[in-house]
Parts: sequence; C-alpha cells; structure tokens
Amino acid sequence: MKNLTQPLFDLTGKTAIVTGAGQGIGRGIAEGLATAGASIVIADINSDTMSQTSSHIRETCKVEVMEFSLDVRREEQVLNLMDETIAAFGSLDILVNNAGIVTISEPQSMSMEDWDKTMDINLRSVFVLCQNAYHHLKKSANGKIINIASIYAIFGAQYLPSYAASKSGLVQLTRSLAIAWAPDNIQANCILPGWINTPLSIEGRKNNPAAHDIVVGRTPAGRWGDPQDLAGTAIFLASGASQYVTGVSIPVDGGYSIN
Ligand code: NAP
Repeated sequence: MKNLTQPLFDLTGKTAIVTGAGQGIGRGIAEGLATAGASIVIADINSDTMSQTSSHIRETCKVEVMEFSLDVRREEQVLNLMDETIAAFGSLDILVNNAGIVTISEPQSMSMEDWDKTMDINLRSVFVLCQNAYHHLKKSANGKIINIASIYAIFGAQYLPSYAASKSGLVQLTRSLAIAWAPDNIQANCILPGWINTPLSIEGRKNNPAAHDIVVGRTPAGRWGDPQDLAGTAIFLASGASQYVTGVSIPVDGGYSIN
C-alpha cells in the first residue's frame, strides 16, 4: 500500500512565519512545522528566547531558521518582516499568528490601557499581519493562515474580559478571511488551545496555585497540555492535508471545552 501520510503532511520547501515563537506555544508549533520540513521565521519581541529557540530548531530539525525582532504592534516592522522573509526564502506559505498577551482584571476595574493593549496585540496586530502577508500567500501554491485564539473564544471569563473579547474576535476575523481569500487558495483557520504549560500560564498559576488541580480535574485528558501538543494540529492546518478545511476553530484542550 502506498504511504500517503508523508506527502500529505510534508512541508519541505515551505516557509512559515511564527510570531511569538521564542517560547511556549509558538515554540512548540515552530518546532512541529520544522519537523515536517518547513523553513522557519521566528518573529518575537524577546531576542534572548528567540535565539535559544532558533539554535535548537536548527540543530534538531536541520532546516533553515531566521530570527526577526518584532513587536507585532509596529506596522513598519511587520512590513519589514514580510520583505526580509521573501528576500531570505523566496516565498511565504504559512503565517502563524501566535503572539498574544493576557490582562487580568474584573470588567469594572479594567483600565482602558489594558483593554487597548490586549486588543492591539491579540486582534489588531493579527489583522495587520494577515493583510501584509496576503499578496505573498496568494503567490504561494497553497497559502495558510493559522491564528492562535483560545478556548476563551468560546467561554466568557469574569477576569479576562478583554482577552475573551479579543480571542472571539479573532475567530470571526479568521472566518471572514477564510471566505474572502478562498478564491486565492488561502485557508485560514484557528487553533483554540486549552490550558497549556507555558511561561505565561506558569507565571499566572503563581497567583492562583489551586488552578493546577482545578484544570486537571475538569480536563478529560487529566493533565495540562504542553506546547508540543499543538504541533500536530498546526502541521495539519499548514499542510496540503487541510486543503478543504477553512474558517474552522479547532480546540486543542484535552477535552476541556466539551466538559
Ligand atoms: P508566552 O509563554 O507568553 O509566549 C508568548 C511569546 O510571544 C513570548 O515570547 C512573548 O515575548 C511574545 N510576545 C509578547 N508580546 C509580543 C509582541 N507584542 N510582539 C511579538 N511577540 C510578543 O505565551 P503562550 O502561553 O505560549 O501563549 C501563546 C499564544 O497562545 C497566545 O496568543 C495566548 O493567548 C494563546 N493561548 C495560550 C494558552 C495557555 O494556556 N498558555 C491558552 C490559550 C491560548 P516575552 O517573552 O517578551 O513576553
């Protein structure tokens, strides 16, 4: 029997930009795409974690890796990111919008500064990145956008009003891009991570140590996720295997959102 798996999921010759890939979920996804053969552009605001991640991927996956210092809020940097990616690799095939922040506050006491910052990084910047990537993705044989939202695109959250609003907005943005750019053979999809062990969530748990057990208790898989748990879904959404899949949001949460 023919082995159909390899070509379906093979990303050799593809170039992927992953924002916020210096650590956490972005790193797990970047490593996954590199394992499938893609050249990787790690675009992050933190140059220390970025260089650690790029060295690791270069050594373990033997693919080309470029680092790009990026604050996703800076439109001129986004433009340069696209130009430098094309100059280095000749094409852009996969854009993973992963960089995101959490601001914790009850709605009645949330500052407008925190509201705006969350919306800027989690939603507005993703639109800017997609808009700037569009012409390059259109030129690709099969352009792919993967937006990292959250299970809080589904649930309301007392202490995360701006976060939940930004992530559900991201789901709707993704659906709109999926419709608009389907004729260009660009697929746009979301991943909704559940509770994943990353520097962001580990820091958050310091203020609420009980959160660890609460999450384990409600998650059918019986554990927190790890960044590597996102890799398989990201490879699927980045590859030809998902060519007829667009505008969807896939929870990767060990079953948390169905319980
Ligand atoms: P993380 O550990 O904080 O990693 C995020 C990375 O993005 C960091 O390297 C961070 O740099 C970088 N970053 C932050 N602001 C940026 C900006 N303005 N421009 C460019 N890069 C920036 O977070 P994570 O937990 O991996 O989360 C990644 C994504 O998954 C986020 O969109 C988050 O909302 C989503 N998510 C996470 C979870 C979870 O349980 N962890 C669950 C659902 C969804 P610094 O090191 O300087 O902060």
